[in-house]
Amino acid sequence: MVKVAIIGAGSAGMFAAYKLIQNKNISVDIYEKGKSILERTRKEVMSGFGGAGAFSDGKLTLTTEFGGWLTDYISEAELEKLIDEADDIWVKFSGVTEIDTKSDYEKIKDLEYQCSRNKLRLYAAKIRHLGTDNCLLAIKRIYELFEKEENINVYCNTPVKDLIVESGKIKGIVLADDSKKYYDKVIIAVGRSGNAWMQEIAEKYGIDSDINPVDIGVRVEVPRAVTDHFTNYLYEFKIKYYTTEFEDEVRTFCVNPGGFVAIERNDGDILTVNGHSYKNKKSNNTNFALLVSTKFTEPFKEPVKYGRYIANLANMLSGGNVIVQRFGDLLRGRRSTVKRIEKNFVVPTLKSAMPGDLSFVLPYRYLTDLKETMLQLDTVMPGMADPNTLMYGVEVKFYSLRIRIDKNMRSQNIENLYCVGDGAGITRGIIQANASGIIAANDILREIQ
Ligand SMILES: Cc1cc2nc3c(=O)[nH]c(=O)nc-3n(C[C@H](O)[C@H](O)[C@H](O)COP(=O)(O)OP(=O)(O)OC[C@H]3O[C@@H](n4cnc5c(N)ncnc54)[C@H](O)[C@@H]3O)c2cc1C
Repeated sequence: MVKVAIIGAGSAGMFAAYKLIQNKNISVDIYEKGKSILERTRKEVMSGFGGAGAFSDGKLTLTTEFGGWLTDYISEAELEKLIDEADDIWVKFSGVTEIDTKSDYEKIKDLEYQCSRNKLRLYAAKIRHLGTDNCLLAIKRIYELFEKEENINVYCNTPVKDLIVESGKIKGIVLADDSKKYYDKVIIAVGRSGNAWMQEIAEKYGIDSDINPVDIGVRVEVPRAVTDHFTNYLYEFKIKYYTTEFEDEVRTFCVNPGGFVAIERNDGDILTVNGHSYKNKKSNNTNFALLVSTKFTEPFKEPVKYGRYIANLANMLSGGNVIVQRFGDLLRGRRSTVKRIEKNFVVPTLKSAMPGDLSFVLPYRYLTDLKETMLQLDTVMPGMADPNTLMYGVEVKFYSLRIRIDKNMRSQNIENLYCVGDGAGITRGIIQANASGIIAANDILREIQ
């Protein structure tokens, strides 16, 4: 038997395991620091069997263009195949067969045209929208399958503390109680919540890495009517804009028509904003993230720290909460108050957010970029820059370091070690994280044939 340990049971780890156990000469132990999917609550967003994707909106972006940087390692054609393979697995376990993109090609071309006239680049992508409910169902079914299969053990509530590395080769892992477990291969799939751990391990064992950008911004909430002429044809409008003053890239991300704004609890109890939507429960609003991407250069090497610092500021000013502000108040340079939010035309779907002033939180550069992009979006979605539009802050996407790996997701420094998913800094979405797990599994399967 070839013994494989997988650290992290999120999108990448789960799919690597699923693929590996098809071969009965492989035994897989999967370690997850969070709870099992049967015990997890919605408050445990980032950690537990199923990973960060478990309570997500389950929006599978079936394109090679976003959700990660896997095309830096493999060809687009190869990635397309892997995306199809991962998508088939989701269809099998969730039962959701429909694709959300209405294939009205002419209409989409027209929207692209309108955007391009306003210096906005629209990327159309096929989306399979599982919805939070079906996404959870699929993960529960995968969990049940793992419980049944003989060549896999799932260890939840079991954080991995360290690796065992000897003479440049991986030999196993060390658990929190210092017990040692020996393996032939180890796949690290620790996600964003395991980023800090991944960094520590990389430093300790001299695993080479590069710096990824950090994305900082807000979650915007508008009436559905403002975005319906896009979302009726494209579930997810992905729009990029380069600002005039700073020439920064600002992008829309994670669009939820009829969705709900949510709080995300990050490591170290930092609260940030996110959004999701249900297949069978809809609000009257659309929410999406508006993010400014920053890649720091020498000498600063800690984009995650920077993002956490800004999120911390928002938490501090809102009494341990996230901030909501009317766009009109932001433009007028005044805070939003409970009264102003109560009277606001757009009713917040995140009731618990604290009305406040984002200009005390976001640096001038981000604020300028975000305001400018809102006004630009208003040219193709009239009403976007209305005073009643809500902005929640802050939304931060941490990608931090990117582990140097080869096209099979193998670490370039330590033999038999694979690094996949968001934790390795090579993906930032469910489907590419799935694909990266499958790539590592395929490499192991090829080797033992
Ligand atoms: C609220 C929310 C909504 C999202 N919505 C979408 C969406 O609609 N579509 C989309 O494509 N993407 C979405 N994403 C992003 C997506 O969930 C991630 O890109 C994806 O889950 C990454 O997969 P992963 O396996 O790399 O990491 P994760 O899914 O984060 O899994 C990593 C797992 O490793 C565990 N772990 C960490 N450290 C250790 C350790 N030392 N020992 C043991 N276990 C450890 C963690 O507990 C975690 O469960 C969303 C994310 C969030 C938070």
